[in-house]
This record gives sequence, structure tokens and C-alpha cells, in this order.
Amino acid sequence: YKMANDEYDYFHKVVIAGDSGVGKTNLLSRYVKNEFSLESKSTIGVEFTTRNINFDGKILKCQIWDTAGNERFRGVPSAYYRNTAGALVVYDITKKVTFQHVVRWLKELRDYTHDNPIVIMLIGNKADLSHLRAVSTDEAKAFSEKEKLFFMETSALNTLNVETAFTTLLAHIYLVNN
Ligand code: GDP
Repeated sequence: YKMANDEYDYFHKVVIAGDSGVGKTNLLSRYVKNEFSLESKSTIGVEFTTRNINFDGKILKCQIWDTAGNERFRGVPSAYYRNTAGALVVYDITKKVTFQHVVRWLKELRDYTHDNPIVIMLIGNKADLSHLRAVSTDEAKAFSEKEKLFFMETSALNTLNVETAFTTLLAHIYLVNN
């Protein structure tokens, strides 16, 4: 017997990369559970959650991997990135260094996923903190064009673009793979 909520046409694995504290866990919990937490989590290890979306008359089952806690506890990157179809690379618009580190996250992603086509979306999170902005939208846009990434600014706090970011990523993963 197959549970109704376990039926799907396509399965895609998505990873969320980016420095600690940029809001990866909250973006995921906002998208999957519509929840936000002011506290940083203390879980150690890798967690994943799934959500199904409808696109083009198909059910896409999306398994999203988050690096809970310190990135050091991710273990072997090759295992973490195996079979990845897409990624959100997240920085915090109020912390320049997290934007500067995006190149490292991209390099790691591309090093470990060179055997399959991968769709990447750059995410400038914490867009609600515009009074503390340290990375301009134009700079991030120019960077994403150069690196051929999709780009969006989000807020896990006030929900801005969270749904759109995941949906856009998943739609393009579907289009690239079918
Ligand atoms: P992670 O380490 O990348 O998974 O980051 P977390 O999701 O644990 O978030 C780190 C901190 O930033 C927490 O205190 C969150 O409440 C906060 N945070 C996450 N997203 C946002 C956001 O969009 N806006 C604001 N103002 N704070 C956020």
C-alpha cells in the first residue's frame, strides 16, 4: 500500500549552502513548515526535509538538505553533494563576508557535482534588515549574471520571496532534467 502523499513523478535533491548564521535553516523551515525561529539551532549533522510541488502537471518531490550546525560536521562533502540537482547558495545581506565566501561555496558545489547538470540560485537573505544592508542588490545581481546563477533576495523572517525562490529553483531543475 502506497501512501497518497508519497506518490510523485520526479525526485530531486537540493542542498542549501552558505556560511553559518545566514539563515539556511530558517529558509528551509519557512518553506516546508511556515515556521521561523529567532534562535540559532544547535543540531549537529545533516538534516533533510521533503516537500512536493506541482509543476507542469507533474508532482516533483523535493528533498532539501541543510547543514545543521557547524559546517565542519557535514562530514564527507562527496557524500553530502551526491546526486544533487540544485542548490541554494545563501549569504546574509547585512554581512559582506558571507557574500565574499559565496565563491568558495560555488567552487565546492561545482567541484563535487561536475558530472551532472546543476541549477544554482544565489540567495541574499535577511532582506528585512535593509537598514543594515552591506551588500547591494546591484552587486549581487552582477555577480550572479557573471556566474550564471539565478538570484533573489529573501527574508525567512517576513517570508519575502521564500516560496518563489524554491519554486523557481525546482521549476528550472525540472526543465534542465526533462
Ligand atoms: P544557518 O546557520 O545558516 O542555518 O542560520 P539560521 O537559520 O540558524 O539563522 C541564524 C540567525 O539568523 C537566527 O537568529 C535567525 O533567527 C536569524 N535569521 C534567519 N533568517 C532571517 C531573516 O530573514 N531575517 C532576520 N532578521 N533574521 C533571520
